[in-house]
Amino acid sequence: MKTNEKAIYNFLLNLTCVFENSKTAPELISGLKEAFKIFGNILEFKIFMFDEVLNSLKDFTKPWEVLKKDYQANILNSYFCSFKYNTADYIKEKNSICFPVYDSEKLSGIVYIKADIKNKVLFEILPLISKQISYALNNLKNSEDMMIQGKFHKTIRNIAKIIETQYELNYIMPVLGEMIDSFIPEHLIYVFLKVPKKKDYKLVWPNKCSDMRIFDYLSVINSKSTAILEDEGKIGIFPLFCEGKIFGAIVAKSGSEKLNNKDTEYLIEIAKQASTTVERASSYMKILEHATLDALTGLNNRHQFHTRLHSEIANAKRQKSSLCCIMTDIDFFKSVNDTYGHSVGDCVLKTVAKAIKKELREYDIPSRYGGEEFTIILPNTSLEEAVLVAERLRSRIEKQKINIEDYRIEGVSNINVTISVGVAQYNNTFDTPEKFYGAADKALYEAKEGGRNRVVVAKI
Ligand code: GH3
Ligand code: MG
Ligand code: MG
Repeated sequence: MKTNEKAIYNFLLNLTCVFENSKTAPELISGLKEAFKIFGNILEFKIFMFDEVLNSLKDFTKPWEVLKKDYQANILNSYFCSFKYNTADYIKEKNSICFPVYDSEKLSGIVYIKADIKNKVLFEILPLISKQISYALNNLKNSEDMMIQGKFHKTIRNIAKIIETQYELNYIMPVLGEMIDSFIPEHLIYVFLKVPKKKDYKLVWPNKCSDMRIFDYLSVINSKSTAILEDEGKIGIFPLFCEGKIFGAIVAKSGSEKLNNKDTEYLIEIAKQASTTVERASSYMKILEHATLDALTGLNNRHQFHTRLHSEIANAKRQKSSLCCIMTDIDFFKSVNDTYGHSVGDCVLKTVAKAIKKELREYDIPSRYGGEEFTIILPNTSLEEAVLVAERLRSRIEKQKINIEDYRIEGVSNINVTISVGVAQYNNTFDTPEKFYGAADKALYEAKEGGRNRVVVAKI
């Protein structure tokens, strides 16, 4: 990554941490102030929210206080008005910047920063930052507005936390289902994703929904619905929104009585939080399209794997050298998640990634292909050498005790995993890069079929 790109990437990751760890307005503000320092010297960092009843701006950290009517307040009001009446993304003065924050689509306040900005890249990503801060403010407000209920809060925070390292909907949604289910065990919970450009919904959690009426109810929700109760209040449909459009729904079905008001309120809030989480994930996705590294493991991401594979094939052809590709997949990884939780799963992924890095030579190219699958491109490497590397890696991981004491799981301080590995050597019969790593993938599949925890070499 280029220096600037890397700085922004780190800044955005840093923002996520601030959002995740701030439980109060002052914590959020001081975290943001710290994070913004990468752009220059920050003298003042403030957020002002508009109070409709009082028709005035208020310091976000002092909601009980109306701003004194002085010169500074006039300037802030004028900024707020200019965002209200025209669509500028930000206002820049000699020593200050101001940009808007929104509640859903509605202008709700402004961020005011007095600073000596050195890094101009800030201005390019201000709209994105504005969005992110808006989400964080709404999160904070949503969770403060809600009744204090330990487990409920934990669920909400966990939902917000999922995307610390995960951006793919197909991964996020089932995890969401699991969390809601453990929070509301007395009802059946389903999570659906809308099929893009169609009216249909696809069940993503759990595996089965045999009540066909639910699909009928889903077909009537629209972007104005917050919740719909059907079957005399026994089935609740809670739509999920991203940028004003429905992308899915949470459905709760009561086995006996009607869903009560409390359940409905909770589910509405959970749906809101899930929507916010997904909105944030999707705006990170946009930024990450330009990234080359995987956020969880620090290895190359899938996109970068393809780019590098392309150029290494070209090199190997030019230099007539041997090129190999290794594909690995953690065995029974789902059961690690199911038994110990997703954060332990993530810890396992990081540990395996570290082991891969340690096992390789400087010019080998490791990537996280996705989920629990990793690839290694080995330039200038004979098949025999590649098999040795694969075998060494497999045995290292098999022996490694993964310390999970930090996760406080009773009676378990460390766990083991194994990996299955496929190895392939490049040859001229592969007319596309896909066929090359496809061969490694096929060998990996055979390793799984053959009993896992083993290395299989692709047949030519
Ligand atoms: P097999 O030995 O056949 O590979 O079995 P498996 O359980 O490893 O295979 P499966 O593909 O069924 O499960 C992969 C699981 O990986 C499912 C998914 O929830 C989990 N997963 C994918 N990405 C992540 C991630 O980033 N973090 C965590 N914790 N889990 C992930
Ligand atoms: Mg897999
Ligand atoms: Mg697996």
